Amino acid sequence: MAVTPLMEKLRRRIAAEGPMSLADFMQACLLDPDQGYYATRDPFGEGGDFITAPEISQMFGELIGLTLAQSWMDQGSPQTFTLAEAGPGRGTLIADILRATRSVPGFHQAMRIVLIEASPTLRGIQADTLAEFTPAWTDNFADLPKRPLWFVANEFFDALPIRQFQRRGEGWSERMIALADPGLAMALSQPLPMPDLAHRLGDTVDGDIVEVCPAAGPIAQTIGARIAAHGGAALIVDYGGWHSLGDTFQALQAHEPVDPLAAPGEADLTAHVDFEPLARAAAPAVAAPLVTQGVFLERIGITDRARALAKRLSGAPLDSHIAAHRRLTHPEEMGSLFKILALTPPNAPALPGTDNGESS
Ligand code: SAH
Repeated sequence: MAVTPLMEKLRRRIAAEGPMSLADFMQACLLDPDQGYYATRDPFGEGGDFITAPEISQMFGELIGLTLAQSWMDQGSPQTFTLAEAGPGRGTLIADILRATRSVPGFHQAMRIVLIEASPTLRGIQADTLAEFTPAWTDNFADLPKRPLWFVANEFFDALPIRQFQRRGEGWSERMIALADPGLAMALSQPLPMPDLAHRLGDTVDGDIVEVCPAAGPIAQTIGARIAAHGGAALIVDYGGWHSLGDTFQALQAHEPVDPLAAPGEADLTAHVDFEPLARAAAPAVAAPLVTQGVFLERIGITDRARALAKRLSGAPLDSHIAAHRRLTHPEEMGSLFKILALTPPNAPALPGTDNGESS
């Protein structure tokens, strides 16, 4: 148990106000302006706490860039559109997207880049990465302009605060963060009927835990509304599945799982993404059936791209390139756990690599 400055702050808050929801705890640990995990550091890469797909290989962002550009052309190459990314981290994904789309006629002239980022530290790194472009930043999805929107997010939704509920008969107890000696511990609230969880009584039994991400629905709704009204598409990549079941709240520090309550502000906190409520909230935009990252990347050509890049490599760089391809696509690595949710306007061609029921 580490007595971090944020631990002291949270203990004082709980002493004054009573146990806090997991969502309030995650919000403080990740984004507290002074001591929050993302607010104060660059956590990515081999020397950081975790590594993400765009940081593993340039192929990830390049192929996604060409996918978005193809979708833009399929919808008649609108002359002005928003190219938005939520939670861009170091800016690696958007930089790879921009490099790969440079030769797509008209794409760069038409795009207006908007980055949705809450961390001042990471905004600074993104500004450096994208120095030759002129992105705009916001932390509010409602600010997305009312025009065609091509949107991408990788490992963004897993960072949004969740609440956890444990089934007790026909009611639900919320899993809360309470004081312990020392530190913090989980505690259960009194069971209450929860009308919002009525639909989960059918697929759970006593003692099961379900997770709810209150912020995700309104975000998906805004993105879906823009796309349905003005055109565009969304490509949302994250770990998770179609219906949450069980405790997926986790903390990573130096690439190792740690106790999420042990060192507030010093470990990355995430939960698996429940894609079904996202897809539902995005209507009338159309959600393609969820596809795994491995299948998606194969469909959009990662093996050809990997072979082309391999021709220029030998020795250790070639070995790490081959390992990166495997890491992104293999079912035992990121290939199956990570999923792609694609959103398109009704009656529009599917995003390449996905199938929304419309022929493209
Ligand atoms: N997409 C990047 C980074 C993923 S980490 C990659 O794949 O490498 C999560 C990112 O979301 C970070 O940039 C973090 O600062 C940002 N973030 C987390 N919560 C946020 C919120 N509520 N609003 C905006 N950005 C947020």
